[in-house]
Amino acid sequence: MHPALLITITTIISTLCYVSQCYVHPFGRCRKCHGKGRIPHRRGVRYCRRCDSTGLRLRLGRHVWNYVRRLHQDGR
Ligand SMILES: [Zn+2]
Repeated sequence: MHPALLITITTIISTLCYVSQCYVHPFGRCRKCHGKGRIPHRRGVRYCRRCDSTGLRLRLGRHVWNYVRRLHQDGR
């Protein structure tokens, strides 16, 4: 098998996996607080401002999905 074809197939499969992951689980763990919603601080803990202390963040693929859907709805 040609190496370029193998790379193309691998890219397509991993993209499909990511898209289905974004569809099934639109939220991922917050990278700043590791999904805890709180960050250890010098005095006690602080609530994570990045995820509003939910510990969740919207995946990048889902952001793109929402953006495209909004564009499509505005076009009608
Ligand atoms: Zn967070």
